[in-house]
Formats: sequence, structure tokens, C-alpha cells
Amino acid sequence: MVRDTFQPGGRAPAPPPLDLVQDFVNTEIPEWARDDLATPTQLDAWLRERGLLEADEAVDAEAFVAARELRTGLRSLALLNTFEALPDEVVRAGFRSALSVVSLRVELGEDGTLLLEPFGKGGCRALGAIVAVVLEAQTSGSWRRMKACRKESCGWLFFDSSRNCSSNWCSMSICGNRVKTTAYRSRRSVKP
Ligand SMILES: [Zn+2]
Repeated sequence: MVRDTFQPGGRAPAPPPLDLVQDFVNTEIPEWARDDLATPTQLDAWLRERGLLEADEAVDAEAFVAARELRTGLRSLALLNTFEALPDEVVRAGFRSALSVVSLRVELGEDGTLLLEPFGKGGCRALGAIVAVVLEAQTSGSWRRMKACRKESCGWLFFDSSRNCSSNWCSMSICGNRVKTTAYRSRRSVKP
């Protein structure tokens, strides 16, 4: 299992609570054909480890399918932050379907602030907690710094803390240079 604290290029992990979303999406590493949420049991363990499932709860099939669609959908949103590529219709449909089963409601806080709260039971509430973090980050503006590496086979979620929010790759030395080298080689190869 990839350590959750591992970040390419020595980047700092996303600040809490966004690190939850970052770790969730990075359970899949397309480039390595790696998926740490490949079974309901793995998803169950992952959510439990983060305190998102009660002892007497378990992940059901609906939550498992939703979790995988949610993960793909969230990566596409992060990619939208990297460069303006809107998710395709298949991804959007899966994302909508995942959102339709997550359980969130609005609560009245002590000080009169309206709060978004996950509710209900099991996996659908746990996924609600992840979606709530994204929604709050979109509202506060920090979401725009949550990016997906633009190298197609990578997609690693990283937190762009650069002043002008202009990073494109999880790590310039890993993905950025490789992409540039490939582009350079292909430019050279088309020369007569
Ligand atoms: Zn990358």
C-alpha cells in the first residue's frame, strides 16, 4: 500500500481536511495500474481507518460502486483545476450517480451558521463526508489549488501551493520532464 503521506517531488500534502480528498483519489494510480479500493473490503478498511465508519457499519454494494465513480469524478474536477478540460459525459454521469447516493444534509450550527453534515449510515454517509469537504473547499476557494497531474497516465492529486497557482505536474522531475522529453523526441523524429 502506498503511504498516504507520500507525495511526489517532495510536495507537502494538502492541508486538512482536503488531505482526505487527496488521499481518497490517490488510492488509484493509473500509471502503475494500482488500486487500493479494488474491493468493498478494501474500501471498508480505508474508510474505517479514517474514522468514517462506525464499528457496526459496513460498506454495501451501492456505496462501493458510488465510491469508485466519485473517485473518478473528483479526479476530473481536479484536472479541471489544472487545465480547463471539462469531464466527459461518461464521467459526469458516473459522478451524478455517485452524488445521488451520498448522504448530506444542512444543519443549523450553534452560532447560526448553516453547516453541511453527512448523515445516515455506512458507506453513503462516509462518502458524504468526503463530498462535504470538496463543497466547502469550493466555497472557500481552496479547491482551485487541488489539482490532478496533467500527464494523462499519472493524474496524481497534488496541492498547488505556488503563489500564482500555476503548477501542472505532480512533480516536474518525474512527470513534467518526462512529458517534455517525449515532446522533444517526437518533434525531433518528425524532422526530415
Ligand atoms: Zn504526475
